[in-house]
Amino acid sequence: MAPTAVDSVASAKTAVSTQPLHRRNATPTTASKTAVAAHRGLLSAAEVAEIRAFAATQTRPEQIQSRSHDDTRIVTYLSYERAFRRRLPETYAKLRGVALAKHVAEGGDASQRFELRVAEHHVVTPGGGLFDPQHVDAGSLVTVDVMLDAAFEGGAFRTLEDGAAVSHADVFRDPGDAVVFLSLKRHHVDRVTAGARRVLVLEFWDGPERGCPHRCERPRGACDVAVHDAVLAGAGDFGAAFFGALDPALVRDAMAALERDD
Ligand SMILES: [Zn+2]
Repeated sequence: MAPTAVDSVASAKTAVSTQPLHRRNATPTTASKTAVAAHRGLLSAAEVAEIRAFAATQTRPEQIQSRSHDDTRIVTYLSYERAFRRRLPETYAKLRGVALAKHVAEGGDASQRFELRVAEHHVVTPGGGLFDPQHVDAGSLVTVDVMLDAAFEGGAFRTLEDGAAVSHADVFRDPGDAVVFLSLKRHHVDRVTAGARRVLVLEFWDGPERGCPHRCERPRGACDVAVHDAVLAGAGDFGAAFFGALDPALVRDAMAALERDD
C-alpha cells in the first residue's frame, strides 16, 4: 500500500530523539545517539523520474565524478553550478524542508545558516557499497538520502545503534523513500549483490550554498575548485565567476572595511 503524507509526518515525529544533542560541537558519538527520520514515499514517482532524468544530463567533461577503482560506486555532483536547486526547485524545497525540520528537532539553531553543501547522485553496482561502519559526513549538519530505484539486491542502509549495525531497509526501500539524519551519525551501506542502487544524497551545512563540482571542503570564503574551474572553462567573465564563488557575507564585510578606510 502506498504510504500517505500522514504516515510520513507520523514517522518523522516518532523518529525525533528524546534529547536534543545537535549542537555546533556535536560529535559522531553524540550524533549517533539521535534517530534516523524515515519518510516513506516523500517524493512521488514523477519527482523521482525527474531527478533521474536530470542526473542523466550531468555528463559534461568538466563535471567531476568520483569513482571507486572498479567503478562499482559512481558519484556525480548534481549541485554543480547550483543546477539541482535551479532545475528542480520544488523538489529541492521539499528536501531542504525535511532536513531543516530534523536540524531544529535535534536542537539545531533555526537562525543558523543551513544551505546545500552538495547534491550527489550515487549509482552502486554489484560489489560496491559504503562499508566503513564508522563513516560520517564530516563537516555537514544534516544529510538526506532519497531512494531512486528498487531494482537492486543487498545495499541496505545501516546505522550504528548502541554498537549494533541496524538496517533501515524496511523504510528505505521504494523509489521516493527518504531517510534524514544528523550528518555526524555513523552510517554505512551493505554490499550491493544485484542490480543498481541509485540514491540521491543531499548534505546541508553551516556554509554558503555551493556550486562547485565536488563535495566542497570550504565552509567559508571562496572555493578554490570553483574559481579554478571557471578559469579552466575560459569563462566569459572571470570576475563574475570569481565573485560568484565568494561568500556574500564576506564580500559585504570586505566592502564595509574598504568604506571605513576612506
Ligand atoms: Zn568547493
